[in-house]
Amino acid sequence: MGISFIEANGGSEAMISRISALLICVTLVLASPPVTALEGRSRSILVLDQSQSTGPFFLQIFSGLRAGISADASAHTTLFSESLDLSRFDGEAYDESLRRHFGEKYRDKNIGVIVAMGSGTLELVQRWRNELWPGIPVVFGMVDAADYARLKLPNDVTGSILKTVLADSIGVARAVVPDLETVVFVGDHWDRQNVFGSWGLEIPQATAGLNVIDLVGATMVEVRKRVEALPARSAIIYSAIYSDGEGTYFSPAKGFELVAEKANRPIIVAAEPLVALGSIGGPVIVPGLIGADAAKLALRILHGEPASSIPVTMSDAVKPIFNWLQMQRWRVSESDLPFGSEVRFREPGIWEKYRWQTLSVAAVLLIQALLISILLHERHRRANAERESRNRLTELAHANRQATAGELSSSIAHELNQPLGTILTNTETAELILNSPSPDLSEVKEILADIKRDDIRASEVIHRMRSFLRRVPFEDKAIDLNDTVRKVFDFLSVQASARNVALYFEPSGEPIQVRGDQVQLQQVIMNLVVNSMDAMAAIPNGRAVIGRTEMNGGSSAVISILDSGPGIPAEKLNEVFDPFFTTKKQGMGIGLSISRTIVQAHKGRIWAENQREGVAAFHLSLPLALS
Ligand code: ADP
Repeated sequence: MGISFIEANGGSEAMISRISALLICVTLVLASPPVTALEGRSRSILVLDQSQSTGPFFLQIFSGLRAGISADASAHTTLFSESLDLSRFDGEAYDESLRRHFGEKYRDKNIGVIVAMGSGTLELVQRWRNELWPGIPVVFGMVDAADYARLKLPNDVTGSILKTVLADSIGVARAVVPDLETVVFVGDHWDRQNVFGSWGLEIPQATAGLNVIDLVGATMVEVRKRVEALPARSAIIYSAIYSDGEGTYFSPAKGFELVAEKANRPIIVAAEPLVALGSIGGPVIVPGLIGADAAKLALRILHGEPASSIPVTMSDAVKPIFNWLQMQRWRVSESDLPFGSEVRFREPGIWEKYRWQTLSVAAVLLIQALLISILLHERHRRANAERESRNRLTELAHANRQATAGELSSSIAHELNQPLGTILTNTETAELILNSPSPDLSEVKEILADIKRDDIRASEVIHRMRSFLRRVPFEDKAIDLNDTVRKVFDFLSVQASARNVALYFEPSGEPIQVRGDQVQLQQVIMNLVVNSMDAMAAIPNGRAVIGRTEMNGGSSAVISILDSGPGIPAEKLNEVFDPFFTTKKQGMGIGLSISRTIVQAHKGRIWAENQREGVAAFHLSLPLALS
């Protein structure tokens, strides 16, 4: 604004105007904030690269740099990027055209830091700096130690020196090819290389004891022909090919692909982008790390740190990286590789491929196994509990039988007395006959037969009692219900007649089969019949108990015991099954409760009802045995 003012006036007026313009300028300069270390420099970075900007190597340097810069959230930074393409264009005239071009292009751009990639770039920047970017600090990368020493850089130039060691690549060749005999060098002339230039000098020492096939600087046609027929136990050390010396230029990736396509031996490379393209890998320069390193240094400078106080360091951007697919091809195992190697493009194994599926299946199997073992445990526990409850039931039933036996003891005694009495009478009669002068032996024989019969009868009574009182474990088998009930009625017949009770059993027309324990079911029926006899004790006559068995549909059978006693008070019909419910003087009140437990253990049901005035009826239904 000030300048256009000066151009518009002349004479003394012009003089005044000039002075005022000067004052305005001074004021503006004073008013404008000074660039302090704290505020940092202009946040523009000019990145100059030696190679072709379209190649993957530079793209990765640039993206590492950009990522590093954008990670700094303190302010926005502008990145300019220029590719010098020095491998294809060189000479004074070209350099001069670049200088003019950049001078023009960046005239108004307030550059804060220049990032120079490659020693060729750094050299040009050094040459142009005073004129194009005076005082602007420089950060360099992709410069080897020899070039760094040669360039004698001022102290406002900092960066990291990249060291690639040929011996490391030869070491990898030895690891990859057992009993390595030959190394084959493929690449541009050493003096045309950027960071591998020193390898030419390192060859004699690094390859001691090995045959060397030197294809450095050979034409692509020649290289392709030779690498096709290399001897066994050889490995190719590939540096970089930009041009084949006949005027044909290749991008580094293309140059490599042309070689890899023909090579009959593993190729050890030195740049990360080539690992993916058919080489086995090697100690490779990772361009992303070079970019990241440069970004760190540039940011330090932008934040106000003087470049002169940032020491030049050795770069850590060379890493052992390998291609798993090529390792398979050349039968190289991971343990052959240098310590800390990274293996890429690994084909996922079954586990990696189906990790989630495998985990899910394993989880399902595990849960299933867990459920099964829980269920088995539960089943085991239930079986134990059932066994335990049956044992208890057996105990109870036995106790109940003993109690019943006590009740029956008088009639049993009566039952025994009868044959014993007859035996005594018969014995006395036999004695009399035998004491007579002419004993009738045939009569004695008959008497003895009677004695024998009565003895058998008495022992049957004892046997029945014994088997009744036997403590037997629960038996689960098919039983005939009619037979089961009939046996109880037979057993109680003597007792009934002693108590003046008529017993009637009305079996079903057809046989009924149920499953369970016969002794326990007989116990239930006996309890019911004895209870009926007890209930009728007070009625003077017409004492009768009827037992009945019948089918109840196709799946169960019902046993009913009816008597002509006083019946059960309606409100007590359920209560009578409760433990210790009794209305008898000597009663224990456990007969019906045990009976219900036994019936339930047979998956059946027992209930009481009054059919009509003075007829108590007990029913128990049992599932039929499956045929
Ligand atoms: P207990 O015979 O020791 O009393 P139970 O459990 O066998 O024990 O019987 C419980 C009660 O049920 C009896 O005391 C009686 O009051 C009643 N009872 C059982 N059977 C009959 C029946 N046939 N008629 C009337 N009452 C009965």
